[in-house]
Amino acid sequence: MDTSGPLHRETYLEGLAPCVPPRPVVEASGNYSQSAYALFIFGGGSCNWCSKRTELEPFHWILRFRACSRTCRDLLASDAGVYLDRSKEYDNHPLGKWLPRVQRTFHNGEQAHVYAARDIKYAKREQQQAYRMERGNRERDPLGFPCRTVAQLQQEYLKREQSRPALYQNGVDLEVWHKQYVSERAIVSRKNYEFVKLMSAVEDKKLQGILRCPTMARIFAAFNRDLALLTHTVWMVNRTAILMEFKYMMDGILPEGTLGRRNDKVRCSYCPRLIKAKGMSDHVVDKHKDQNPDAIPFIPARNEKHCPDCPDSKRVFTKRGLADHKLHKHSKQS
Ligand SMILES: [Zn+2]
Ligand SMILES: [Zn+2]
Ligand SMILES: [Zn+2]
Repeated sequence: MDTSGPLHRETYLEGLAPCVPPRPVVEASGNYSQSAYALFIFGGGSCNWCSKRTELEPFHWILRFRACSRTCRDLLASDAGVYLDRSKEYDNHPLGKWLPRVQRTFHNGEQAHVYAARDIKYAKREQQQAYRMERGNRERDPLGFPCRTVAQLQQEYLKREQSRPALYQNGVDLEVWHKQYVSERAIVSRKNYEFVKLMSAVEDKKLQGILRCPTMARIFAAFNRDLALLTHTVWMVNRTAILMEFKYMMDGILPEGTLGRRNDKVRCSYCPRLIKAKGMSDHVVDKHKDQNPDAIPFIPARNEKHCPDCPDSKRVFTKRGLADHKLHKHSKQS
């Protein structure tokens, strides 16, 4: 991710209102350096359900869950993502002494601990690796746990157990802080949006086009994240770059790393024509048979693909459909 925001990442943790709770200082090994902590909060990460990269902050700070979408979030919060220990299986279990958990109280007053299903799974795999080590099998788990014997792992468990209260408290503090941060960020984003709207009007350019320019998009996101208001100075410093990107985009030349939307007119990568993004693959089939219509620069990739053995066909197939088509049309037997 880009770090050229208006403030350096580390500064989020100092003096910004609302203040980020200080990082927990714990004995257990693992990454709790200041920068790792800042990245955990602001740096995005992969969705704990589908592994897709997301810029969103975690939604559960104690169990450390991050989701890329509402769907993944709901799945993580369901039985598939959390383990509700009603039978108290882990209450007196070595893993239950240190695994992150929250307590849930039911209507009837019954209480049970909730664990992240992922944490339990990983802890068991870490244990398996230690057992293998004991038997002289040095095969490492792909999750990359440090090499530890059973005794070493038990030492580590002890540290984790001692660290859990501090980490739990930090999770609670982060949750409180995050609620306030989100509402302040909404206010700042609104103001920054109004500012860009005003500058677009001054320049007589379309607001949505200006917001899509990579330089503008980057600054907009960074200022909102830092709860900082865009200023005229910031605009003036970046104005030339933004207007240049805007001009190119209007001319159908998208900046590196961006993708056209369906109705964007995009300059063909193989001839000077301007074509709507949604029609580009048909154009490539018609005019540029030596090019792959499923891998055109600036055009989002689709799940459906063209048949490489039918260069004149604009028909697209799902993976399975393509296999069927190849079997019926191109297999040697037919
Ligand atoms: Zn996801
Ligand atoms: Zn062309
Ligand atoms: Zn074919």
